[in-house]
Amino acid sequence: MPELPEVETVRRGLEKLIVGKKIINISSDWQKSLPITDNEINNSIKNHEIVSIGRRGKLLIIGLDNSRSLLIHLRMTGQMVYRSESYRFGAGHPNDSLIGKLPDKSTRVIMELDNGSRLFFNDQRKFGFINISENSKINQIPFLNKMGPEPLSQDFTYKIFKARMKNRANSQIKAVLLDQKVIAGIGNIYADESLWMAKIHPLKKVLEISEAKQRALYESIIEVLNTSIEKGGSTDRNYVDAEGKKGSYISFAKVFRREGKKCYRCGKTIIKIRAAGRGTHLCPNCQRI
Ligand SMILES: [Zn+2]
Repeated sequence: MPELPEVETVRRGLEKLIVGKKIINISSDWQKSLPITDNEINNSIKNHEIVSIGRRGKLLIIGLDNSRSLLIHLRMTGQMVYRSESYRFGAGHPNDSLIGKLPDKSTRVIMELDNGSRLFFNDQRKFGFINISENSKINQIPFLNKMGPEPLSQDFTYKIFKARMKNRANSQIKAVLLDQKVIAGIGNIYADESLWMAKIHPLKKVLEISEAKQRALYESIIEVLNTSIEKGGSTDRNYVDAEGKKGSYISFAKVFRREGKKCYRCGKTIIKIRAAGRGTHLCPNCQRI
């Protein structure tokens, strides 16, 4: 599932490519992937210029020149792929559609831009979609108005992190990290990676975690997310790695999906348990309950 670093990779990649371009056409053969009326497409999208591309949590926000924005929900298997005569870019869910001939059977929405390029929204599982909102109403969207702070923003200080943890003192830390109302955009991979880095057992309650470890966790979250973004998330550039292995977007992982392998820090065997209803990876020696 594309998480914050993958969505941020999409955002940064597209920012260089589509801002300033006009949308000539947008079409879909799957209504749920583009739940926008023809009338609205004609009036509010076609022939409008893209002026910005932002992100809130895992939601991509393409700003248009008419104070409206396209909201792109990648969900489980969404990806955005840009293709022009001379340039290719793709990021999001890592699969062959990032690098293959498009459109293909996972293509749900095609956007044509005024420089002859095309932007494909591919989504195998069809849980994602693109809709439109007036800019003034975006923050009122229920899941956005309750969303916690962006972990990579300047405003996300240790003080704020600590206060938000304190509100959830009796909850298990993994569940707290996955709760988008506490911090925006941390999913399963980055929760496991951050907890391993900070040497905290995922089932520990917040109130059982020392001040020093809370500080370590705060720093780990930021470091893990930044490292992943630096590696380019799941762009088509690194989608097939040097060994020809596919889906390299978790290749940086120190603990995620490494069950049965040796901990890079202490050499003990990584195990997998259930925490917050999710498959959770940890080192039983570094991360004690
Ligand atoms: Zn270990």
